[in-house]
Amino acid sequence: MCDRWDIGGLSTAFHHQTGRPTVFIYDGHPGGVGITRAGFDAFERLVEDAMRLISECPCRAGCPSCVQSPKCGNLNEPLNKNGAVELLRRVQDA
Ligand SMILES: [Zn+2]
Repeated sequence: MCDRWDIGGLSTAFHHQTGRPTVFIYDGHPGGVGITRAGFDAFERLVEDAMRLISECPCRAGCPSCVQSPKCGNLNEPLNKNGAVELLRRVQDA
């Protein structure tokens, strides 16, 4: 079982500690409950599932069913469905 509030994320086009575009994913509860560890172990399958979910969504530019999040600190702006697919494709190839 997992609620969307159990996990958090932060993405940036450049992070000074990594020197590259970076996505941080973290447990949403202080001390964690192990969700990010489980996600790390299943990362390839999760990327495949996300790619399939977004690619098969019938919307044109992104919707709450595929790429929008009610937790997004930027109010889902900018948002790019094709960009999400491209990002996942590059993650798979990395
Ligand atoms: Zn959609």
